[in-house]
Amino acid sequence: MIRFAEVSMRYPGGHEALKQVDLHVQQGAMVYLTGGSGSGKTTLLRLILLAERPTQGHIVVNGQNLGKLTGKRIPLYRRNIGFTYQDHRLLNERTVFDNVALPLVVTGHYRYQEIKKRVHAALDKVGLLAKERAFPVTLSGGEQQRVGIARAVAHRPALLLGDEPTGNLDPSLSWEIMKLYEEFNRVGVTVLLASHEFDMIKRMNKPFIVLDDGRLSPQTDKAEGPG
Ligand code: ADP
Ligand code: MG
Repeated sequence: MIRFAEVSMRYPGGHEALKQVDLHVQQGAMVYLTGGSGSGKTTLLRLILLAERPTQGHIVVNGQNLGKLTGKRIPLYRRNIGFTYQDHRLLNERTVFDNVALPLVVTGHYRYQEIKKRVHAALDKVGLLAKERAFPVTLSGGEQQRVGIARAVAHRPALLLGDEPTGNLDPSLSWEIMKLYEEFNRVGVTVLLASHEFDMIKRMNKPFIVLDDGRLSPQTDKAEGPG
């Protein structure tokens, strides 16, 4: 599903955020990406999302060579990816329903009935169907994060990426959110979650990979983590 071959990424200004990264995430896998602050996790996800371009190397996602993907084909490519942010980026003046519906609306590809069906299905999966008319500020931090997940999966992406999805939550809520991602993985979605919370990741019992100052080393068991 995701393949990096000797990928390096240097930001304008000189910092090399990723150094010769080789990565393979199989279709249907669930993998955690960990490493300390500034190790390159967000950069790696942004390369997959085509929000950044590598300065060296090749990235293939879902059979597509990203180096050859340009212009109008980028939105279509992104439609196969769901992305969740640490700060969830919900629109506070819109209802939960509208927040989840928005990415579907902007594609211009769905009729209202189809949007409604998909939004309801997504909210149901995250356990928030009853809150569709609520505004984000009236929800708890965990609920807001779940709305962000519903928004990311409403278009039924094959790949789900999360950047510090539990960054602002207490440990028991974090666990619940991680389990929710696992449920999407169980029905076939490939999931890649970046988090600096190494102790929690170890407890999740899933494969994880570690970035250390832009270098990736595969880890499979209780090996030494960052920090
Ligand atoms: P992480 O998500 O693991 O904390 P990032 O991918 O955000 O790491 O950052 C990796 C490195 O790249 C850091 O040293 C950071 O300061 C640098 N960096 C991130 N974004 C930019 C940018 N837009 N311009 C320059 N340097 C950046
Ligand atoms: Mg980050």
